[in-house]
Amino acid sequence: MGAIEHTPLTVAQAQLKLAAKKLGLDAGIHKMLSQPKRSIMVSIDVRLDNGTIGVFNGVRVQHWDVRGPFKGGIRYYPDITLNEVTALAMLMTWKCAIADIPYGGAKGGVCVDSKKFSKRELERLTRRYVSLIFEYLGPHRDIPAPDMYTNAQTMAWIMDTYSQLKGYSVPECVTGKPVEVGGSEGRTEATGRGVIHCVKQAADNMNLRLGKASVAIQGLGNVGFHAAVAASEMGCKVIAVSDSKGGIICENGLNPAEVLAHKERTGTVQGFKGCRDVSNEELLETRCDVLIPAALGNQITCENADRIHARIVAEAANGPTTPEADKVLHEKGIVLIPDILCNCGGVTVSYFEWVQNLTREHWTLEEVNSKLEKKITRAFDDVHELSSKEQSDMRTAALMLGVGRVAKAIETLGLWP
Ligand code: NAD
Repeated sequence: MGAIEHTPLTVAQAQLKLAAKKLGLDAGIHKMLSQPKRSIMVSIDVRLDNGTIGVFNGVRVQHWDVRGPFKGGIRYYPDITLNEVTALAMLMTWKCAIADIPYGGAKGGVCVDSKKFSKRELERLTRRYVSLIFEYLGPHRDIPAPDMYTNAQTMAWIMDTYSQLKGYSVPECVTGKPVEVGGSEGRTEATGRGVIHCVKQAADNMNLRLGKASVAIQGLGNVGFHAAVAASEMGCKVIAVSDSKGGIICENGLNPAEVLAHKERTGTVQGFKGCRDVSNEELLETRCDVLIPAALGNQITCENADRIHARIVAEAANGPTTPEADKVLHEKGIVLIPDILCNCGGVTVSYFEWVQNLTREHWTLEEVNSKLEKKITRAFDDVHELSSKEQSDMRTAALMLGVGRVAKAIETLGLWP
C-alpha cells in the first residue's frame, strides 16, 4: 500500500464528511461547516534591526462561532499555508465543542522564520500584525493563544497592543499570558496533564492498571515533558522518550526531570546514563502499554502502523496519525485517543484564564488542576459513551460529538436574516 497525499484541509473535510454522514446532518449545515466564516489575509511591514523594511504574510482564519467567541493559537513559521491554518481552525471548533467550552475555532499565523529575528523585531512584527486584525479580535470576538514558535511573551505584546488601541487594559483579549499580567496557574502543564487524564480513563475502561503501565513518548517538548511528569506521578513507568535528534530507552523507567536536565546540558536526550540510544522510528515501534506521539504530524502512517505495539495511542500532537494508519490501528485493536480530545487540556485552561480575567479573579494551581481533571474526564467519558453506542472508534465518536454540538447550536439559533 503506497502513501496517499493528504493536505491538512482535505483530511479535516473528510473527517467532517464522515461525521456528517453518521449524524445524518442537514446538507446545508454540512456545507456551512466545511468553510470558515472569515479568512483575513494581511501584509505585515516591519522595520528590521538593520534599518531595512521586511514584508511578511499573515493570516487569521475564523471557522465557526455559534457556541461562543473564536479561539485559537497564532503560529510563526516560514511555510504556513492558508490550507493548513483553515484545517486547524476547523479542528479547534470541534475541540472546543468536545471539551464543552463556549468557544468557536480559529487559528492564525505569520510566514516568518522567527529563529532569525531579534526579540525587538518579533515585538514589532507581533504588534503590527495585531493592529491589522484588531477590529476582528476582542474578548467577545476572537481570543488568540500561543502556538508553534509563539509564547507567553508574544501574548503579553498582543495584550498590550490591543489595550493601547482600546485605551484601557484588556487582559481577557488573549490567553497564555505570563502570570504577572493575568495568565493562569497551570497553563503551561495543562496539555500534558490533560493527555494523562485521558490515558487514565482509557486504561480504566480496559482494565489496564496504570501503576504497572509502560509509557513511550515521542517529543520531550512542552507537552511531552509534562505528560511524562504526570504519567510518572500516576505511577506509570516512562520507558522511552525522544527529541528531534533521536530517542532513548530504559526498560527500568526514566526520571523525566533528570532527562530534561541532561537534554538542557547536552542538547539531546541521547547519551543519558543507563539508557540505550534509539532512532525515532524505533521509539514509535517500542513494545509498551501507552504510546504518546507529542511532536509532529504524520508520524504513524501506513508504512509503520503495522509495527506499533502499544495498547493505547494517545495523540498529544496534532494529526500524528494518517487516516490509513487509523484503520490499521483500529483493526489491531489498539485504542486511539484522538488529538481533538487528547490535547484539549491547553484550550481548557485557556478558557479558565479568560474566565478568571473577566471576573478579575486568580485561582490557585490546585483549583485549576482539579477543574481541568473534571472537564477532561467528562469530555473523555462523553466520547467513550458515544463510541460504545455507535460501535465506532474514538476519533469518529469525537468528531460526531463535536460536529453534532456545533450543528445543534446552528439549528437552535437559526439563520439570520
Ligand atoms: P515543543 O516545540 O515544545 O516540543 C516539540 C518537541 O518535539 C521537541 O522536544 C522537539 O525536539 C521534538 N521533535 C521535533 N521533531 C521531532 C522528531 N522528528 N522526532 C521526535 N521528536 C521531535 O511543542 P509542544 O508545545 O510540546 O507541542 C507538541 C505538539 O503538541 C504539537 O503537535 C502541537 O501542535 C501539539 N499541541 C500543543 C499544545 C500546547 O499547549 N503546547 C496544545 C495542543 C496541541
